[in-house]
Amino acid sequence: MLLRARIVVPVTAPPVEDGAVAVSGDRVTAVGRWRDLRDAHPGPVTDLGETILLPGLVNAHCHLDYTRLAGQLSPPRTFPDWIKAILAARSSWTADDLATSWLDGARQLLSTGCTTVANVESYADGLALRRAGTPLRVFSFWEMTGVKSRRAASEIVTEGEHLLDSLPPAPGGVGLSPHAPYSTLPDLLQAGAALAQRRHWWTTTHLAESDAEFEMFMFRRGPMFEWLQRERDCSDCGNGSPVQHLSRCGLISPRFLAVHANYLWHGDAPLLAARGASVVHCPQSHAYFGHRRFPREELESAGVNVCFGTDSLASTRGKKGQPISLSMFDEMRAFQSRDTGLEPSGLLARATVNGARALGLQGLAGELSSGSWADMIAIAGSPSPGQVNEAVINHAGPVRATMIAGRWVASPTALV
Ligand SMILES: [Zn+2]
Repeated sequence: MLLRARIVVPVTAPPVEDGAVAVSGDRVTAVGRWRDLRDAHPGPVTDLGETILLPGLVNAHCHLDYTRLAGQLSPPRTFPDWIKAILAARSSWTADDLATSWLDGARQLLSTGCTTVANVESYADGLALRRAGTPLRVFSFWEMTGVKSRRAASEIVTEGEHLLDSLPPAPGGVGLSPHAPYSTLPDLLQAGAALAQRRHWWTTTHLAESDAEFEMFMFRRGPMFEWLQRERDCSDCGNGSPVQHLSRCGLISPRFLAVHANYLWHGDAPLLAARGASVVHCPQSHAYFGHRRFPREELESAGVNVCFGTDSLASTRGKKGQPISLSMFDEMRAFQSRDTGLEPSGLLARATVNGARALGLQGLAGELSSGSWADMIAIAGSPSPGQVNEAVINHAGPVRATMIAGRWVASPTALV
């Protein structure tokens, strides 16, 4: 089929006015000007009219489980206070609460233009059904902790491996998420890294998120250390930064997504770059906690791939009087309001190709090019050529149409 739009934004190439995208099966076969493609592609045509057609957005960090906590937790005094609040909130959830929350989150992401999400999963029951209940490409990262339960690391990783192996094939994938340095012990981090390496799975961990975590690992002090020294063996603290700690445990690799990385020590950025890891920045969650400025320049000048994620609605404040929703467009704008160093095209890259690269999906997701997945979204607009990326960043509300793997999952029929 051939899709025509006022503007096509391939992301990896300049925008095309009166553009077209040819699709065969689940792949894009050509991107270019309508007048160049129409004769070579005699299949059915869908004219999307005055729209901008671009690749589906890639959300590199999310917790769909927590969608139901939207607006319920006020920004905490300390980061450990927030951890305690979320543990208390989820302790009373039923399986139905959880399924509704997860699927609501998936619907929100779809309606705001996301087609691929790296989601941290903390509930095994019904996970296969939830994944089957959305057309989103969900990369499910199984969350592992072990401090509270005091279970053996081998038992925790074996359980994770069996769970992920039991999931039916779905458009996304699976991976492991050792939760964070403070909520795991070194043997679990090492066992998780070894399993991921053996299975060629991606891993993701909340890393260097708060000053409390940084102080705990660097200096054996601060509110997180005071709290957790009663709960866990803290002999892994006081030996360097959180990044150095994870590196010693073998987790930092080209298949690793470090989420947050707000508090870095000397040498952390070059270390992440040398190991080929990616960093996921979640602008709204970052603002909610009032962390110090995200060190984007330091990471990127060292050569680290930086991409964006939404994190969960449990750490998103939203705008006054407006419902809070998972939205990568909101994340791009939240980033822009705090870091003016990126052009709109740079913001869009971090919400598309950079996220795809972090997940090993280069050439498949986050771009429209010959051979890429036919995952794309259409938003209303007919900006002048110089204003295209800005118009994309300023898009608000639901997208007008979404295609995943060559199939419309939100139909454009209303447009044509
Ligand atoms: Zn998170």
